[in-house]
Amino acid sequence: MAAQPCLKNCVPALMNWYADHARPLPWREDNSGYRVWISEIMLQQTRIETVIPYYHAFLEKMPTLRALAEAPTELLMKCWEGLGYYSRARNLQKAAKQVIESGREQLPTTYAELIKLPGIGEYTAGAIASIAFHERVPAVDGNVMRVLARLSASYTDLLSTAAKKEFFALASELVPEKDPGQFNQAVMELGETICLPNTSPHCELCPLQKMCRAHELGIADDLPVRSGPKARKVEQKTVCVLMTTEAEPRILLHKRPETGLLAGLFEFPNFSGSLDDREVSKALNQLGLSIQNLQPLPGAKHVFSHIEWLMSGYFGIVSGETLPGGYLWVTREQMKKQYALPSAFRAFLPFLDHISQEEG
Ligand code: SF4
Repeated sequence: MAAQPCLKNCVPALMNWYADHARPLPWREDNSGYRVWISEIMLQQTRIETVIPYYHAFLEKMPTLRALAEAPTELLMKCWEGLGYYSRARNLQKAAKQVIESGREQLPTTYAELIKLPGIGEYTAGAIASIAFHERVPAVDGNVMRVLARLSASYTDLLSTAAKKEFFALASELVPEKDPGQFNQAVMELGETICLPNTSPHCELCPLQKMCRAHELGIADDLPVRSGPKARKVEQKTVCVLMTTEAEPRILLHKRPETGLLAGLFEFPNFSGSLDDREVSKALNQLGLSIQNLQPLPGAKHVFSHIEWLMSGYFGIVSGETLPGGYLWVTREQMKKQYALPSAFRAFLPFLDHISQEEG
């Protein structure tokens, strides 16, 4: 799809606006391939304010590609703890290992090479290649597609394959030879600050207002078209926070399987379904654990992209020497420093803090 002539005029207007309005974000201070890559992966499905502290902490522990490739999995997961979508972290390390094993110390510098690495798709390859290595390629994600759909007054459903093709072609036409990375970031910035999703865009503040077809036609609020997402599957779970009564109490954790949701991360022991106290005691006895003082805890809900967990909780004092495979006792200090507990289970941490305070 050739860009409409008026859309070509967007490029200088957008670049001038971005020069004055770009937010000072940490990954904009250093455009090395490694840093752009880490920030782009962290920013997938995650808000900027959430990412900033993770970005700093990650780079402090793993400042280079080699450091990432050689980092122990537990450190990697601890640095990602709470950020969600943990396969992103695993893929980062897989890609880093692949590059180091090929005899290089730095990320490849072209779109064609980047896209072959684990976890790097079209958008991320485009973002890294254009921002860090100045290659003239677009970086098109949902945010950019929304801006382009409005600029070109397109009613193509953003969730369709046709939309991917249409907006990639349009962005490829628009991205300039000079400063392609600045252009790509400018479109993203416009989408994140002015041409907003799920609400009316702030056309009155937009540098592209005079060239925007949707604004001209008065249909900016109707675009983009996006077919509804599929309903999430709801799963009930019963989560058990179990402690010993030693001077320094230990807490029971379980390591999740190496594949699937939250692969290889640690969790509080839990069972499918909403179990009552007798069923919980029975399930724990089957693991070889004897329980005293089982008490219900406030429930919690966690929403993943395709699944929703509705969790009821129990607290109990436990004895039992032999643990089945995959279970381990850890102190509160070890849990804080060493073991990555996904957000879904962190909902039960305030209760542990409360107990520790009472003991202190
Ligand atoms: S004029 Fe409005 S709809 Fe068009 S790009 Fe700007 S903010 Fe978006």
